[in-house]
Amino acid sequence: MKSVRTYLCFVGLLVLGLACAPKVTDVYKECVVNTDQTTLFKGHWPQHPIPLAVEAVDFSASELVEVQAAIEKWNDFFDSSKGFKLYLTGSSPLATINSGGARVTRGTVCSQTIVTPSGFSNSIKIYKTRSGWTYGSQVMALTSLCPVTVSGAQFRNLVAAVMEINYQDYFSTSLHPDLQSLVVHELGHILGLDHSCNGAGCTDAPDEYRSALMYPALGFDGTIGRVKRDVGMNDQQRANCLY
Ligand SMILES: [Zn+2]
Repeated sequence: MKSVRTYLCFVGLLVLGLACAPKVTDVYKECVVNTDQTTLFKGHWPQHPIPLAVEAVDFSASELVEVQAAIEKWNDFFDSSKGFKLYLTGSSPLATINSGGARVTRGTVCSQTIVTPSGFSNSIKIYKTRSGWTYGSQVMALTSLCPVTVSGAQFRNLVAAVMEINYQDYFSTSLHPDLQSLVVHELGHILGLDHSCNGAGCTDAPDEYRSALMYPALGFDGTIGRVKRDVGMNDQQRANCLY
């Protein structure tokens, strides 16, 4: 999820997209992939529920409420569409893991011991990163996935993941994104969705893609991040293809 701080062209377009976004009242239960979105999948998890946990020392109680609400957005959708909750969060409010300072990052996640010969055997951790952010200050959050190609299969298998939220350049500074909006977008990546459009494909993207959770940028009104928390039609139709 990128901020629009260095992508100012997205600001006006995003306003238009939100203004035109339909209110989602029905759950879409069919798999629908538009021809320009066929490559916009990261993979899928061979088993579910997908175990999630937050780093034990990182998040405040109010932040955990927002993270839990984001998880429930996807769980409610899959419950309505497929009859199961995709994400496992453990006991109330959220499972926690204390990594003892051994932070799993983009560079190390796929080589960690959590990737075992028999498959993923640990929880996907959600971190708030206060220092050492190396992905660029315009990036508000980043999810790293480890996909494995399966011969003859439509989608690659995801075997590990980590979500990092940029508290170095946001939240503690003048810019305050909506945490729930950020996390629900990153959870879309964790379950296997790429963005609704990428790069040049976003230049003239239709409202359907701009109003999607998985649109790659989210703007600010002044210093306050815009709110985009609901799983949109395009998100739902694509997610239905993965599970
Ligand atoms: Zn993203």
